[in-house]
Amino acid sequence: MNKGKLVVLVVVAALIAAFFIFDLKQYLSLDYVKSQQEHFAAFVRDNALLTAGAYFAIYVAVTGLSLPGAAVLTLVGGAIFGLVWGTIIVSFASSIGATLAFLASRFLLRDWVQAKFGKFLKPINEGVEKEGAFYLFALRLVPAFPFFAINLAMGLTPIKTRTFYWVSQVGMFAGTVAYVYAGTQLARISALRDILSPGLISAFVVLGLFPVAAKKVLDVFKARKVYAKWTKPAKFDRNVIAIGAGSAGLVTAYIAAAVKAKVTLIERHKMGGDCLNTGCVPSKALIRTAKLLSHIRRSKEFGIRSATADFDFAEVMERVQRVVNQVEPHDSVDRYTKLGVECLKGNAKNTSPWSVDVTLENGTKRTLTTRNIVIAAGGRPLVPPIPGLRESKPLTSDTVWEIRKLPKRLVVLGGGPIGCELTQCFARLGSQVTQIEMLPRIMVREDPEFSELVTKRFRAEGVDVLVGHRAKEVRSEGGEKIVIVEHEGREKRIACDEILCAVGRVANTEGYGLEELGIPVTKQKTVEVNEYLQAHYPNIYACGDVAGPYQFTHTASHMAWYCAVNALFGRFKKFRVDYSVIPWATFTDPEVARVGLNETEAKEKKIPYEVSTYGIDDLDRAIADSEAEGYVKVLTRPGSDKILGVTIAGEHAGDILAEFVAAMRHGFGMEKILATIHIYPTLAEANKYAAGVWKRKQVTQGQMALATAFNNWTRGDAGLGSVIAKIFSLKDKRPYYEPAESHGDD
Ligand SMILES: Cc1cc2nc3c(=O)[nH]c(=O)nc-3n(C[C@H](O)[C@H](O)[C@H](O)COP(=O)(O)OP(=O)(O)OC[C@H]3O[C@@H](n4cnc5c(N)ncnc54)[C@H](O)[C@@H]3O)c2cc1C
Repeated sequence: MNKGKLVVLVVVAALIAAFFIFDLKQYLSLDYVKSQQEHFAAFVRDNALLTAGAYFAIYVAVTGLSLPGAAVLTLVGGAIFGLVWGTIIVSFASSIGATLAFLASRFLLRDWVQAKFGKFLKPINEGVEKEGAFYLFALRLVPAFPFFAINLAMGLTPIKTRTFYWVSQVGMFAGTVAYVYAGTQLARISALRDILSPGLISAFVVLGLFPVAAKKVLDVFKARKVYAKWTKPAKFDRNVIAIGAGSAGLVTAYIAAAVKAKVTLIERHKMGGDCLNTGCVPSKALIRTAKLLSHIRRSKEFGIRSATADFDFAEVMERVQRVVNQVEPHDSVDRYTKLGVECLKGNAKNTSPWSVDVTLENGTKRTLTTRNIVIAAGGRPLVPPIPGLRESKPLTSDTVWEIRKLPKRLVVLGGGPIGCELTQCFARLGSQVTQIEMLPRIMVREDPEFSELVTKRFRAEGVDVLVGHRAKEVRSEGGEKIVIVEHEGREKRIACDEILCAVGRVANTEGYGLEELGIPVTKQKTVEVNEYLQAHYPNIYACGDVAGPYQFTHTASHMAWYCAVNALFGRFKKFRVDYSVIPWATFTDPEVARVGLNETEAKEKKIPYEVSTYGIDDLDRAIADSEAEGYVKVLTRPGSDKILGVTIAGEHAGDILAEFVAAMRHGFGMEKILATIHIYPTLAEANKYAAGVWKRKQVTQGQMALATAFNNWTRGDAGLGSVIAKIFSLKDKRPYYEPAESHGDD
């Protein structure tokens, strides 16, 4: 036990002894409190103004200085001054104190508040911007955030001091009455059995139910405001309508049908949406063929003197289509109808918060009524307004699957996941590919070493990767397309046969009634939703690419669960969407997969971290497969095995990341991964070795010195004294292994 702990133990023991020696127990009895209560009450009666003044000053000081204890003080206020005067005094004291804290934050404590309450600031700022004083009123009425944090955080928003004061006073009034009332009841206890008196029980009930009741009242008020200009039907034909049959709409409909809700799924194009028809499925099918070609090219590495592939691009694309067709039944009208979903093929348009018009494929129109609507309308490729680009009819992820002639020279605009996957595919299929990225590196969301790894591989495979190049214009000259790019102030011309535009995706938010219903969109042009995924109208939800913030199939499905459950059962319990552990992968070769924080983000957010990196060039299975390239890079909380984030680059990175996703999701750390038996030889062993790297870093110089002395002693090379002496060296906490040595063959 260290000195500090010993001192604490002695002090605690002394205090306990003093408690009994001086019979301090008598002061903690209800009898004593009651006997003093009389004195205290007499003092208050005789010095009413003085007591009120002192209490007021203490209250203002406590709240003004953001000290803890305002709730207890309010109860005391009720006990001393009774319901009416207690409420009046507390109401003014708390509002003045809150305003002083607000002003201190605004003029004095800006940096401190920013550092301490930064996480509260963003939503509060957004709330004030959107709803102004009403937002503060709601915060005051329903204590979602600690009161003192609201005062401090509000000081950094543009709200006026006057507004802050009066809204706080009005907003806190009901809560003040509830607490003061509870205080008056506490003052009436004369025996312990009185705790069960109806008055006191009702006071506790008021305290407990107040926030819930206030929230309900606010919700009803807000809903009334939002729905004011619409007439709600007396009854509805359906429980849910999902607009769009991509991943988000399909999962919504699936869940609704599973719990026997009446659900209609409307799709204007193809069941399965982007993922099945133009996204994940065809891209992964194309990647498979491209990978096979790359293996054929690398045949010598596998001991095969020569191998060539004779293929026709059109047949490759036909196989891609066959794969799509093979997966199609999973998302088909037939399957969903059998599950109990009404599937309609047509264009949906919201006409009120409870009604949707559908123009069916045969031109007929139907009006459907529903209690809830889930917007799952997805997104589309962005074609930026670069002069001449649109006229050049660029390929996009929507149209590239239709081509049957391999472009000889292809320019890919964009270095994000879609751009990178397709760049490598086309290069491997034989196109001469130039990839243009405006930013300093491709795959900019990942740490720089991962961008570098992929860039190196692309260049080795013949791709001309141009980073820091901005596409300025597209011209058509003599039957070929010329992309004019700017790099460090100079222009360059790149001639090509086709351009593939992969510079991002935009949500589908126009043309189906959102504008008419006044449903707002965010700065990123996605449907604005709250934490329950409700979009402006509490019965209209949005999920998937149309709502963001992630644009993956698995996040669309994840969000859809919240939409379906909140829409159907939200009147009993609503669930906040949880984005805490979201994994993703870019299926280049090598694959790059990530979950949680990477090092760049940890630095930006000033989150302390420790890095453990295991090089896959060391992994037996990767060596056997001739795929010995990549890393497992794990960020952990310093001094703990808690995982903050993982990035893996290498063969099947997306699959082997799953172990870390489970670890983060279910709260186990590096110790458990290290203690798990992994099959030899597998790629998944890389995870265990990364945990080994982490473990070795925890070993200190002191521990190693002790272990050496112990082993010397057991061999008879040294005396027991040397072991005992080394026990004191445990204080030496310097790491034994240098990070550069950290390769995890534990
Ligand atoms: C090339 C490419 C590769 C990708 N690879 C992956 C990957 O490997 N892994 C991954 O997780 N994600 C990947 N994605 C992303 C993934 O495809 C999307 O995140 C996912 O499809 C989003 O699903 P969603 O349901 O939100 O939207 P969508 O799939 O776009 O579905 C929306 C549907 O709504 C319909 N619709 C829109 N408006 C109306 C209306 N008014 N009436 C009726 N119907 C309407 C549309 O026709 C569409 O079918 C990839 C995307 C692309 C483009």
